Amino acid sequence: MTVPTPPLRALQLGNATSLTCRECGKATSLGPFYACEDCFGPLEVGYDLPRLTRADIEAGPLNIWRYAPLLPVPADIASRPTTEPGFTKLVRADGLARELGMRRLWVKDDTGNPTHSFKDRVVAVALAAAQEMGFKVLACPSTGNLANAVAAAAARAGIRSVVMVPANLELQKILTTAVYGGTFITVDGTYDDVNRLAAELAGEHDDWAFVNVNVRPFYAEGSKTLGFEIAEQLGWRIPEQVVVPIASGAQLVKIDKGFSELAELGLVEQSKWRVFGAQATGCSPVSQAFANGWDVVKPVRPDTIAKSLAIGNPADGPYVLDVIRRTGGSIADVSDEEVVAAIQLLARTQGIFAETAGGVTVGVLRKLLASGQLDPDAETVIINSGDGLKTLDAVAAAVVVPRAISPTLDAFQAVFGER
Ligand SMILES: *Cc1c(COP(=O)(O)O)cnc(C)c1O
Ligand SMILES: [Zn+2]
Repeated sequence: MTVPTPPLRALQLGNATSLTCRECGKATSLGPFYACEDCFGPLEVGYDLPRLTRADIEAGPLNIWRYAPLLPVPADIASRPTTEPGFTKLVRADGLARELGMRRLWVKDDTGNPTHSFKDRVVAVALAAAQEMGFKVLACPSTGNLANAVAAAAARAGIRSVVMVPANLELQKILTTAVYGGTFITVDGTYDDVNRLAAELAGEHDDWAFVNVNVRPFYAEGSKTLGFEIAEQLGWRIPEQVVVPIASGAQLVKIDKGFSELAELGLVEQSKWRVFGAQATGCSPVSQAFANGWDVVKPVRPDTIAKSLAIGNPADGPYVLDVIRRTGGSIADVSDEEVVAAIQLLARTQGIFAETAGGVTVGVLRKLLASGQLDPDAETVIINSGDGLKTLDAVAAAVVVPRAISPTLDAFQAVFGER
């Protein structure tokens, strides 16, 4: 792997101290590394966790930078030009809870982020670390939402972006990337093909930071902020159950890490939580591995409307299985029809329009309740990670588009009476 010209001073990324191999435990210094030199295992950011009080955090900005001391970012990050994602709403979901026979249900609604998905969190952290490491271009292979977030974050920071997606992506996600004006490439192939191309390009261009490839350890840390916010917004309490969609699996693994760090810092009552994973049946390699009791995840070729979750060879798959088994959770998958029905259920009961990934999560919530794996009486948080306006085709056939009437009372009454 080639390494960009080192910065003049030693790399300072807040309280982050090292990169440690998740497989063999070998520690490396902080830098643009993502695989262990000895065993090629993925690297994890380690910290000298600071002494931190709830009041310190509560005094911070109303975005992810309130948790900057727990992220691999420079200490003054809040004063730099970033998209300032995070601190999205935690919505008490009584309507949905009633329908599902639950007592205390919350939706962490990440559609409130700058480009309407949770990806703004991970990109903001990756960009901050990448700039400190001397990278000049922000790049990614994407299933759509990441493309939006990278293009927007680079525009805000005033640096170049190079974004690559499968050509069959939803038109909404194509347009909402192109508008930011970076270099935008559509590829004939699956996400996994695009990802392989990105890995080759990362080897060729030593000043390009592919957020989810060569700076992946830093990128992934951004998802911890979902865990931090959920706990803080519940009044510094970790929910008993959390249901998380799985693409690469990083979000799920890092929500658990976020909860663990808060417990370690004494910011929440030491409590037990169970983590549950959600996949679409048409791309369910982690769900299949869990159901079969495997430790490894067998790659699949995705075929589902939940394109933002369509990663057939998920990098964090085995670590998802670890978290699920360690916390006593479970994983399930739902069909495309169930995804659409779940999008409508969430919209009808809560007034929240989720993209297909949110439909997967709500659908799996319903399924795990029906199978008795989720406790309907335990406090539960589900993640709504993206906005329905980006996947309009998914619901186009399912919702009723009214036919036009003439502007008369009679015409109105005829239709109103009908319904
Ligand atoms: C990327 C994405 C996810 C999952 O992310 P991973 O960390 O790769 O598992 C979930 N929901 C949406 C909407 C996404 O775009
Ligand atoms: Zn190793």
